[in-house]
Amino acid sequence: MDSSVSQPLSPNAKYHFKNEYDDYTENNAKPHIENHTVSATTKITSKLIKKWESTLDEVENWTSTDSTVYTGTAGVGLLFFRKAPNDTQNLRNIRKKYLQLEQLKNRRITFLCGDAGPLSLAAVISYKLEDKKIFDFCIRKLMAFVKVVKSTEGELPNEYLYGRAGFLFALLYVNKHVSPPPFAESVIRSIVSAILFSGQKTAKNLKMDKDWPLMFEWHSSKYLGAAHGLSGIIYLLLQARQYLTEEELTTIIKPTIASLSKTRFPTGNFPSSIGAGKDKYVQWCHGAPGFLYMYCEAYRAFGDTHYLYAAEKCADVIWFRGIVKKGYSLCHGVAGNAYCFLEMFQTTKAERHLYRAIKFAEYCLEYTKDREECVPDRPVSLYEGISGPMYLLLDIQDPVNAKFPGFTL
Ligand SMILES: [Zn+2]
Repeated sequence: MDSSVSQPLSPNAKYHFKNEYDDYTENNAKPHIENHTVSATTKITSKLIKKWESTLDEVENWTSTDSTVYTGTAGVGLLFFRKAPNDTQNLRNIRKKYLQLEQLKNRRITFLCGDAGPLSLAAVISYKLEDKKIFDFCIRKLMAFVKVVKSTEGELPNEYLYGRAGFLFALLYVNKHVSPPPFAESVIRSIVSAILFSGQKTAKNLKMDKDWPLMFEWHSSKYLGAAHGLSGIIYLLLQARQYLTEEELTTIIKPTIASLSKTRFPTGNFPSSIGAGKDKYVQWCHGAPGFLYMYCEAYRAFGDTHYLYAAEKCADVIWFRGIVKKGYSLCHGVAGNAYCFLEMFQTTKAERHLYRAIKFAEYCLEYTKDREECVPDRPVSLYEGISGPMYLLLDIQDPVNAKFPGFTL
C-alpha cells in the first residue's frame, strides 16, 4: 500500500515535534536493515550496550513502594526478564528484588496496575526455576481474584489498566508461558463472558446498542483508546479469540470494530472518547497507536484486508505525528509509538515499517532532556520512564518477536 500521505496530518502541532527523519526508501533503509533484521552497524545496535550500562545503575538501584508493572518495580523486573529470560541467577534476582509479593495489597486486579502483574511474572519465573511452592502460591492468589472478576454485579470496570481486560491478560500471559497452562478454559471463558455481558448491558442501558453491540464506560466517559477504552478491550478479546464463539466474533466483535472505525477523524487519527471532538493524542494510551493493534489483530483473526488498510492509515498518522512532546515513554511517548511499527512489520513483513521503528528507536536512544515537556513522575518505570525505551532497544534487535510488554501476548 502506498505510504505517501498528502492530507494534512498535523492539525495540532502543539502536541508533537515535526518528524525530521527521511521516510523509507530502499536506499534510506540499506544502512539499517539486513535480511529483515536490524544491522549490527546501526546506532541502536552499536550503542545499545553503552546505553544499557549507563542506564543500569539508575534502573538497578531503584527502589519503590509501588509494586506494579506500570509504574513500579515489577515493570523493571519485566525488563530484566526480557534481557536474560533463561539466566537462573537473573531470575532469582528479579523475584527477590522487583516482585515484592509480601507487599501486595490485594487491591487492584490487572496485569499493569494491580497485583496480577507481579503475581503473573512471579508465577512464570517460579515455573522456570522449578519452585513449586511459590508458583502454587501465585496461582492460588490469581485464582482468588477470578470470583470477583467474573461476577457482573458491582462496579468493576472492563478497561485494560484497571478492569477485566487487564486481568484477562494476566491469565493469558501465565498460560502462554507455563506448560501445562494452569488456568482452565472455563476460567478464561468466564472472564470473557463477563466482559461481553457487561459491554452489552452498558450499550443497552445507554440506548446505543443499535450501533454498538458493546459499549463500556470508565469514570463516566466512553473511552475508545488502548489503555481505558473500547479498542483496547477488543484487542484483548481478539487475542483471546479461541475462547469466543464464531457467532460472537461475527455478531459482536466485527460490528463493534465497524462502529469504532466510523469515529475516525478525517486526519486518520481517533478520538480518546466518544464526544471528544479534538484531534489531540497520538500515543499508545489514546488515539491511533492503540487502534493499530486492534486492526492488526482483526486482520489476523478475519483475514480481511480492510483491517490491514485501516492499520496502515494509523501507522502513517504515527509516523507524522508520533514524535510526541510528552517524551519517550511506552504509555504516551515515542517508544510506545515505535512498537506500532514493529507490530506492522510483523503483520505485513514490509521493511518500511521496520525502518520507521528504527528511526523512532534512534530518537529514544538520542533523547535529550531539553526536548522534555512533561517530566515523568516515575522516571525509572516501564510505562512512564526509561525502562520502556530500554525494553524497546532490546526488543528491536529481534523485530520479528518483539512484543509491547504487558499488552501483546
Ligand atoms: Zn499514557
